Amino acid sequence: MSEQTVALERKIVTAIPGPKSQELHAKRLKEVSHGVGAALPVYIDRAHGATLIDVDGNQFTDLGSGIGVVTIGHTNDAVVAAVQEQVAKLTHTLFTVTPYTPYVDVCELLNKYTPGNFEKRSALFNSGAEAVENAVKFARKFTGRGEIAVFDHGYHGRTNLTMAMNFKAMPYNSGFGPFAPGVHHVPMSYPFRDPEGMTGEQAAARAITYMEKRVGASNLAAIVIEPIQGEGGFIVPAPGFLRTLGIWAKANGIVMVADEVQAGIARTGKWFASHYEEGFEPDLFTIAKGIAGGMPISAVTGRAEIMDSSHAGGIGGTYGGNPVAAAAAVAVLKQIEAGGVLEQAMRIESVLTSRLGAMKAKFPVIGEVRGRGAMIAIEFVEPGTHNPNSGAVDAVVKHCHQNGVLVLNAGTYANVIRFLPPLVISDEQLHDALDVLEAGLANI
Ligand SMILES: *Cc1c(COP(=O)(O)O)cnc(C)c1O
Repeated sequence: MSEQTVALERKIVTAIPGPKSQELHAKRLKEVSHGVGAALPVYIDRAHGATLIDVDGNQFTDLGSGIGVVTIGHTNDAVVAAVQEQVAKLTHTLFTVTPYTPYVDVCELLNKYTPGNFEKRSALFNSGAEAVENAVKFARKFTGRGEIAVFDHGYHGRTNLTMAMNFKAMPYNSGFGPFAPGVHHVPMSYPFRDPEGMTGEQAAARAITYMEKRVGASNLAAIVIEPIQGEGGFIVPAPGFLRTLGIWAKANGIVMVADEVQAGIARTGKWFASHYEEGFEPDLFTIAKGIAGGMPISAVTGRAEIMDSSHAGGIGGTYGGNPVAAAAAVAVLKQIEAGGVLEQAMRIESVLTSRLGAMKAKFPVIGEVRGRGAMIAIEFVEPGTHNPNSGAVDAVVKHCHQNGVLVLNAGTYANVIRFLPPLVISDEQLHDALDVLEAGLANI
């Protein structure tokens, strides 16, 4: 879709969902597994920038980016061109049979722009969960140890191992066990809910004590942590938490894995969210969502000696680093490299934090505004308490959806609204969407 063909402002022309979407949804319910959910069952026909257009002609401002995937914007011109060119040239060989260059180009760019001034390697996969699975494989192979530590409120995927790593039973895990063994859940730094004044160092000491006593440092292959938790509700750990954990991991021969699947790739205003914590130097990064403008591809990037510890043939998969998806990733990464993209995330942070901060002052149902860059959330409480208020979230989300603004909820207590707009969203479009949100808040 070219920008010229249609004005991209928010526009609602039918009930939501509209008649065509309702018809399609009835068909879907007959044909598609009901285990696959639908947050807003409007059927999207096309999209550009930060606007989704449904089959009834309704236009939604997208503040979710398909959960932080189309960070570069829907149908980004360079991504579309790269995909079109690559799809006509080569769609598959299997990189482990006969290689091709876009795969190597993605690895080179990720090795260059992930934090850490040491020799790195990368390997490519299809999904975030698959990247997390492979980071654990690398860590176990390198250390010869089996145990893994993860954090309360964390989310890592829907495969058997990554379900074991998730915090929240519903909806991710319930009824799908038993799960992979060797995974230990450790207390997170959650400043809004931790004891008042608890520092990052103190929260890290709490987590380290747990790992030492309950697991034993010498049994741990890896600590896997989201530097900003995504599904958990954009929980930003207190300063010093990540650094202290990293220092302890290094001293004990434990591989430190930053799961940057949601927070990485320019989303927070830096290439990776780990850049924000001075002295935090993860050994491995898992990368997916925002990397390829919607094409399915993921990566593990990190220390060469860890990444090279597997025998050849131990790492791979039929579609991992597919040429078309890799070409899209190169198109995204080159735009970030060229400059201006990180600044867009910071522009969005300033609009979101000032508008949401003003709403917090006005509506006591908002307990906290937090996050970085274009990854900002509001946590809802019963006014005057810290008690989670998921009912208020449901009401506001519904208001937004009915009025053409796509927002997502999040959080262990389902009491968070998260904002993950495409970075190309204009100030005007963002303010318009926030006006809708504010009207929804005034209504509850
Ligand atoms: C989404 C997500 C995953 C899983 O990615 P999929 O591509 O859905 O498998 C893993 N970790 C984090 C932090 C995520 O946000």
